[in-house]
Amino acid sequence: MNYIKVKGTYDVLPDDVNNWVALENYVRNLFNTYNYKEIRTPIMEYSNVIHRDNELSDMVTKETYNFKDKSNRDLTLRPEGTAGVIRSFVENKLYTTPGATKLFYLGPNFRYERPQKGRFRQFMQFGCEVLGSNEASIDAEVIELAYETIFKLGLKQVSVKLNSLGDDQSKQNYRQALIDFLTPMKDKLSNDSQTRLLNNPLRILDSKDKNDIDLTKDAPLPLDYLNETSKKHFDDVIELLNIMEIPYEIDKKLVRGLDYYTHTVFEIHATTEGFGAQNALGGGGRYQNLVKELGGPDLPGIGYAFGMERLLSALKQEGIQLPNHNKLDVYFVTFDDKTRKQAIRLQRQLRTHNISSDIDHLNRGFKPQLKEAINYGAAYIVIIGDEELKMQTVQLKNTVTEHQQVVAFDALVETLKELLS
Ligand code: AMP
Repeated sequence: MNYIKVKGTYDVLPDDVNNWVALENYVRNLFNTYNYKEIRTPIMEYSNVIHRDNELSDMVTKETYNFKDKSNRDLTLRPEGTAGVIRSFVENKLYTTPGATKLFYLGPNFRYERPQKGRFRQFMQFGCEVLGSNEASIDAEVIELAYETIFKLGLKQVSVKLNSLGDDQSKQNYRQALIDFLTPMKDKLSNDSQTRLLNNPLRILDSKDKNDIDLTKDAPLPLDYLNETSKKHFDDVIELLNIMEIPYEIDKKLVRGLDYYTHTVFEIHATTEGFGAQNALGGGGRYQNLVKELGGPDLPGIGYAFGMERLLSALKQEGIQLPNHNKLDVYFVTFDDKTRKQAIRLQRQLRTHNISSDIDHLNRGFKPQLKEAINYGAAYIVIIGDEELKMQTVQLKNTVTEHQQVVAFDALVETLKELLS
């Protein structure tokens, strides 16, 4: 029998975990700077939280993992973060706290998609949601935050794409205009787009099919259908982005995958050559109806989500290293049972003072121990032989400079603390 990982999933092996931890720390710090609070919601929700009447996107209708629990309840593994966060916001009445609620999250999502480079069935996202403000300043802040996420990481080859779908009324008018435009050429559209014409026509603008791209070349665009209020909102967002000097380009065909978006939508793309077709690092937008749809008050929201696998691979592609806080400070090298016991005694002291350390557990000779110390990237080697045991000292060696000094047992912690600070 073969024991293999589930298709579309991956293991994060110890050598890679540091990158994940570093990215997670980075994200938490960044959100702190913008005064967003973390929220953690379950990875499974009752299916009606995800499968809502108005949500007909492929992601929700075709790609979710649905199952029944033993009490015959319908459950769905979350395919994205927003619905669960809004469910929690409503259920826990977070809207009763005055002011806009600024939340962020981080965790796995599940979509039954065709796995390929940059596309998995279990993948990690981090994202944010701001609930309760209609102001353009919050759209601008969320886009600023998305831009900053990338910029502060050091990624250079990225672009911010921006569009507006307008409010419900504008979106509805646009939707009808698009249907009117495409219906006469319906038979020439790809099969997917023919289905979308009925339930999700905006997504046709997003089609990667060559023929569809050709047919939609002269299609009406959302920006042409914005009513006065929607146009003003979008102009205000743009003005604020200009004030903050956030670079962006207007992408008149950007519609995003989910049906709940209204007004501002945006995506961040990696433009590095060879990044592959899945180059959207993150995206988001405003939604006016989701809180209400999930049983809450009539409050608007706006948010974004980034895929962490794609971010890590963009970092790799641009040769950017995340800080590694997971270094081994000390490796003990000993010669026999007596020196080893002394080392274990000293190691205990080091560890209680948060100095990381390790020692051989295979009873190996001097050379293999040294080799292991180097493999682990230990900053210092502490050698204890017969002579040292007699003198109650150790040889403390810096693995980079090779400088070696004698240090008394009872001065080891203090000496290391100083050297490592
Ligand atoms: P979405 O929720 O589809 O707007 O996706 C937001 C971001 O999540 C994308 O830009 C990707 O970086 C990431 N993402 C979405 N789906 C997947 C997937 N199946 N595998 C890996 N990353 C994904």
